[in-house]
Amino acid sequence: MEDIKNRNCPFCNCQFSQIIYSDCGFNIVKCDHCKYIYMNPLLKEILEGVYNEKYQFSKDRLETVVRGFENGKRSFFNDRLRSIKKRRTFGKLLDVGCNYGIFLKLAKENGYQVYGVDMSQSAIKYARNELKLNVECKTLKGANFPSEYFDVISMFDVIEHVKDPIGELQEIHRVLKKDGLFFLTTPNVKVYMLKAQIVKMFPFLAYYKDNFTGTPYKANEFGLPYHINFFTPGSLTKMLIEAGFKDVSFDLCMKEKYHGRYLRNLLRMLHVMMVWLLFKLFRVYMPAEISAYAGK
Ligand SMILES: [Zn+2]
Repeated sequence: MEDIKNRNCPFCNCQFSQIIYSDCGFNIVKCDHCKYIYMNPLLKEILEGVYNEKYQFSKDRLETVVRGFENGKRSFFNDRLRSIKKRRTFGKLLDVGCNYGIFLKLAKENGYQVYGVDMSQSAIKYARNELKLNVECKTLKGANFPSEYFDVISMFDVIEHVKDPIGELQEIHRVLKKDGLFFLTTPNVKVYMLKAQIVKMFPFLAYYKDNFTGTPYKANEFGLPYHINFFTPGSLTKMLIEAGFKDVSFDLCMKEKYHGRYLRNLLRMLHVMMVWLLFKLFRVYMPAEISAYAGK
């Protein structure tokens, strides 16, 4: 078939894998050799990066997104910034995949000297013109920053989308200062698998309300087809070390304003409490989103 492409494991280049999950016509596979989890085959459009245009929202959508961020999601970004500030309180901060720049705006207000890159033209236009931020509509490699330039680099929910995750991490390693700090978030595939099992038993749990518009929609737990790489805390650590990083550690960033129904909010609250207790008491790390730090 013309529009899809089989790929080898993006981590170890092994060509053999087993299907572990299928949905919406896409397969998620586990590498036979290194156990890394990824989507295979892959749509040609995704490989070519055309999907970045999904961020080209209409003006109405943009306004809803921004209002949503400023009212509710702000606590979500605050939580991430609070986590960074525990480790590094100043310096040059680069956000890779900065989107509309809401996090960068917050970081700037907190004294960081901020930089951002994103592939979405409309998001960069907003970040530059409305928020007056120092941002570029480029890939990280395309921006070609000098080596050892940044004190802090953040990358939220990006690595699960990129074609060459190790290459992206190596470029981040290159532009990070020697004593710099790298912080990234990505969904935890262990929790995805667990959720998929639970939804199979209780199908009504698959329905969510859109955070911004309140419209109900059926969840696609794995974020298909736009998520093409899937990480556990273990496989992410392995890849960070492979890319040259050291001292990998994890934090819990789970503050989010709840918009769902009463039952779902209750379940979420219980889930957050359980995850927190597991981590604090037993060092078992099971949040739905991995928040990882690495040094150089
Ligand atoms: Zn592999």
